[in-house]
Amino acid sequence: MQEILLNNGVKMPQLGFGVFKVQDGKEAYDAVTWALKAGYRAIDTAKVYGNEESVGRAIKDSGIAREELFITTKVWNDDQGYEETLAAFAESLKKLQLDYLDLYLIHWPVKGKYKETWRALEKIYQDKQARAIGVSNFHIHHLEDLLQDAVIVPAVDQIELHPTLSQVPLRTWLARHDIAVECWGPLGQGSDLKNPELLKIAEKYQKSVAQVIIRWHLQHGFLVIPKSSHEVRIAENFNVFDFELDKVDIEAIDKLNTDDRQGTNPDDYDKR
Ligand code: NAD
Repeated sequence: MQEILLNNGVKMPQLGFGVFKVQDGKEAYDAVTWALKAGYRAIDTAKVYGNEESVGRAIKDSGIAREELFITTKVWNDDQGYEETLAAFAESLKKLQLDYLDLYLIHWPVKGKYKETWRALEKIYQDKQARAIGVSNFHIHHLEDLLQDAVIVPAVDQIELHPTLSQVPLRTWLARHDIAVECWGPLGQGSDLKNPELLKIAEKYQKSVAQVIIRWHLQHGFLVIPKSSHEVRIAENFNVFDFELDKVDIEAIDKLNTDDRQGTNPDDYDKR
């Protein structure tokens, strides 16, 4: 498994499995079980996905040693603030049946709250309850503001990023500050899978469009967490280590950016 070295020296598997919109119960339990069987070792969940209990059960039942796994969850907007975040963290750990997390993230930059929330994440990190802490959906201006008071620089910014939303200015800023880029919606939540240019490239390599897009993320050095609840697709999305995209194809995919979001702009998270 390829790994990315985070800014605190912790190694994170570059390709992980996301479980947004995977229903708590059998669906989430099966999906995580299939993912671990396929070889994924990083799982990305969030309190708001409502499936931490099933994810935790699947992890436990897998019998895989805890230190081989990399588990991420996130503090939801309603739980932001110092004490609230500490309480939410404890609840997530309990649901996941874990005694530490690998990565804990602020899910969205809630105005007037994210700095207090970050202080709680720093406490969690200093108490060794999370091996790394980071943010999600933070623009440059949120990060600049956070860094004015932060003691610890976030290890990761998990952002919407895919071929039609390639986020070059934010990526460049993050690279300069040694904050790893983690891509949510890496397949454009399914929308980039129909792109004609990507279909042509997939045909050239005799791979699926999903596999080509995941290679594009990997070859750019991003952390990437595609989601599926189908066993065959879960395995397909992990089966990407036997080919490489040529430079010319990487560049052709780079040109597909249209700055179109599938999700919410982080400045409008409260207007959804
Ligand atoms: P994604 O880009 O991973 O797309 C998932 C969809 O693509 C699936 O529902 C399915 O329709 C399709 N798909 C996946 N594999 C396929 C395949 N091999 N063939 C055909 N179709 C396929 O979108 P996502 O789930 O939104 O993002 C991935 C993960 O990122 C989430 O599960 C979650 O963990 C995380 N996420 C985080 C945030 C955040 O705010 N931090 C927001 C959204 C998602």
